[in-house]
Amino acid sequence: MAGLFIDVQVDASVAKDPALTKKLVEVCPVNIFAANDDGSVRIVEANLDECTLCDLCVRAAPPGTVRILKLYE
Ligand code: SF4
Repeated sequence: MAGLFIDVQVDASVAKDPALTKKLVEVCPVNIFAANDDGSVRIVEANLDECTLCDLCVRAAPPGTVRILKLYE
């Protein structure tokens, strides 16, 4: 399920990479990314609408693997 205003999509290749998970958890100022016990990434849905569109997560991951979707105009 997405937030009301924002959805964040992470490719499976990135979601399962513990190093990239760590990076995403570190860069996001509003804690939209969290790490599962196995090191894979989890989206914290309750925080999705706090996204500031800062693009730090997009730049922290390989091109095109993290997408921020605006669900509004
Ligand atoms: S764009 Fe910024 S605030 Fe939004 S999910 Fe990425 S790092 Fe977090």
